[in-house]
Amino acid sequence: MLKGIPASSGIAIGEVYILEKETFCILEYRIKKEEIETEIRRFKEAVEETKKQIAEIKEKVKKKIGKREAYIFQTYLNVLEDPLFIGEIVKKIKEERLNAETAIREICKSFPHRFKLVQSEFIQERFRDVEDAAERVLHNLLKRPMLSLSHLEEEIIVVAYDLAPSDTASMDKKKVLGFATDVGGRTSHTAIMARALEIPAVVGLREITKKVKPGATIVIDGDKGHVLINPTYTQIKRYQERKKRFLIYRKKLESLKSLPCQSLDGREIELAANIAGPEEVDLAIRNGAEGIGLYRTEYLYMNKTSLPSEEEQLEAYRTVAEKVNPHSVIIRTLDIGGDKFLSPLPLPEEINPFMGQRAIRLSLEMVDVFKTQLRAILRASQYGKVKVMFPMVSSLEEVQKAKKILFEVKKELEEKGVSLPSNSLEVGVMIEVPSAAIMADVLSKEVDFFSLGTNDLIQYTLAVDRVNERVAYLYQPFHPSILRLIDNVVKAAHRENIWVGACGEMASDLLGMAVLLGLGIDELSVAPTSILEIKKVIRQLNWEELQKITTHLLKLSTSQQARRYLESKLGKKIRKTLKGD
Ligand code: PEP
Ligand code: MG
Repeated sequence: MLKGIPASSGIAIGEVYILEKETFCILEYRIKKEEIETEIRRFKEAVEETKKQIAEIKEKVKKKIGKREAYIFQTYLNVLEDPLFIGEIVKKIKEERLNAETAIREICKSFPHRFKLVQSEFIQERFRDVEDAAERVLHNLLKRPMLSLSHLEEEIIVVAYDLAPSDTASMDKKKVLGFATDVGGRTSHTAIMARALEIPAVVGLREITKKVKPGATIVIDGDKGHVLINPTYTQIKRYQERKKRFLIYRKKLESLKSLPCQSLDGREIELAANIAGPEEVDLAIRNGAEGIGLYRTEYLYMNKTSLPSEEEQLEAYRTVAEKVNPHSVIIRTLDIGGDKFLSPLPLPEEINPFMGQRAIRLSLEMVDVFKTQLRAILRASQYGKVKVMFPMVSSLEEVQKAKKILFEVKKELEEKGVSLPSNSLEVGVMIEVPSAAIMADVLSKEVDFFSLGTNDLIQYTLAVDRVNERVAYLYQPFHPSILRLIDNVVKAAHRENIWVGACGEMASDLLGMAVLLGLGIDELSVAPTSILEIKKVIRQLNWEELQKITTHLLKLSTSQQARRYLESKLGKKIRKTLKGD
């Protein structure tokens, strides 16, 4: 059994199809001086041909899968239109008189070194885009068609070093049961595509391509990140059983879609979805989301060479607002920085990016960028129920400044004759910095709602980098300090009659969400595919009992005691609920 990174949930059992990157020899030779122009033309024609092919794939993906996934191909086009990339190859042909194929290989050889200097998983992943784009140009130079997963005879599980977005985009979804790759992380394109296509996948398995043979049977467990090679008959039976149970379980959960999200003793909880773009709204609605509790808009700014225009943003926000109507969407303003970079913004390098100029700090600094976003949000409020939320607030002044800019933008729009809804847009803040949680009584007088960003709140309170696996053991949602902060936030909000939601991962964890409910949270916002399972559990819990449990929990001194206590009070009950009809 190999262990990798779970990328897309579900179980797949099938035969291995190894997608090997074709290795072919290219002739290395020097060209004559008078051949330089012809060689450059040959290279540029191959680039143009490649751009045409990529644009076609992009269109196909946009129609078949979604706009966000199609955007991946824009990165390829950007590479092929990048004067620096093209210029360096042309320079090699001209100055060193290399043939085009050798020039491409030489330039590409220098990339791993250049990319390694950047310690971001996201940027490392983009390295593959450059490689894949260059590989396609080589194929066109040599007039060789690329291997593809589009015409498969039988159902298979694809095993590869990595899958290029163009492989996943053109593949026959009915025939590919699952993916397993040597490299990749949760943000790699393969992982994003697998989730969008709802195909079980495990990535980052290191050496799976060396450990399996074509035609061998393997099992992919996309929830645990396990891959079983040549399983025994009993193991296959067991996984088949699990797969069957998983499918029945998901099917059964669907019956909960239209039922209210209410505890046994009648406490109603709003259950909304977290999304990163308009293409995820349908999935959220299919799973019965009561609106969008967190729209992470930063994805509109990432992976691009220029900032998204007001119109582009308006289209995205309007689509979401219209689709979720009559429910509402909470649009969070740009939360770039920390582990989310690669925006077209000229951001300086920082030693401590998580504590640097990120989120609202950046918006308040780059007022034009902020205003463009606010204009798009306000204009989108004409088409549905829109609320706005500011990320990473750490003081009252920040909220006041942000609100002042929002009102200015509103006034400017109204002066231009844009008719905005008469009831003013609700304004909320993320509570994800300890100072904001401590000052909740003050902040609650300034806003209409709070949403707890537990991912960051835990990171900052416990001083544990949320993406550093070496200190992951210290990342404890049930640490007494976290529980006390949440308790303080909820009490302060309710004293001021405003509601409090939770949109961090703690809300998706079954014990975590039970604690949040007990502490008095009014709304939960979770990944679309977690909604029904959470609703199922909430409907079997007693709110009064949860309140008693959390009252005792607040008196405990360590995370370990808290977890043990919760496990004893709720663990068995939750597991039983999940198993039952
Ligand atoms: C959080 O910090 O809990 C949160 C929801 O925001 P993000 O994960 O986008 O930082
Ligand atoms: Mg956050």
